[in-house]
Amino acid sequence: MGAVKRHPALADVAAVLFDKDGTLLDFQATWGPATRDVLHALSDGDSVVFRDLSASCGFLPESGGFLPDSPIIGGYTDDFAPAWAFRLGQSYDQAFKSQVDSMFRDASLRHLTGYDDVVPALESLRAHGIPIGLATNDAAATAQAHLKKLEIDGFFAFVAGYDSGYGGKPGGGMVEAFAKAIDLPASAITLVGDSPHDMDAARAAGAVPAGIARTEMAAQVLADRRPAITVTDLSGLLAALGLSSAI
Ligand SMILES: [Mg+2]
Repeated sequence: MGAVKRHPALADVAAVLFDKDGTLLDFQATWGPATRDVLHALSDGDSVVFRDLSASCGFLPESGGFLPDSPIIGGYTDDFAPAWAFRLGQSYDQAFKSQVDSMFRDASLRHLTGYDDVVPALESLRAHGIPIGLATNDAAATAQAHLKKLEIDGFFAFVAGYDSGYGGKPGGGMVEAFAKAIDLPASAITLVGDSPHDMDAARAAGAVPAGIARTEMAAQVLADRRPAITVTDLSGLLAALGLSSAI
């Protein structure tokens, strides 16, 4: 097999920073049932409260899916939990936020579904000496727990969540922190993600935005951000990097 040609937009890329949900994890299969569990617990059996909490975060109880602009997708706790606290008559303080994060951590671990191409892709990147990081708007402890449960934590040189001290996406702080951690310029990093926040975070830091559109919805929301490249799975990413997916 001949050498695979690298996509010109990734010519300077020497490290890969991944988003988590919708990129490494099957968002719908993991977060649909996890969100249902969390909202059931918060509403304590009250179906009216359950529906109100669902509506406030774009969760669709009938299908278990989400509206395209749901803050559960690519947002972070501060984007959706204040409305829940308000509806429940509680104040949105650190205790409430921690409770929500903890409930989501437990529920998402119960339903955790990784994509089949993740392990082979990480193995290929590692075999080629390419540093790998994770930048998620999820809580860092949840992200660590997910990587561990999927048995892929050992691949990551860097893991950041919204609460790691670098700010959340669409800001570029996590990308800059990864660059610093691996001692490369941000321009040598591609941030691979499925949401507009990912593309904006990459651009904010001067990294290369790479869209991964595993679903039609992801393709639609990514399109107007004009990623440097868009792939439909991780073998597409490896090909764009000029790497064979065979290990
Ligand atoms: Mg995502």
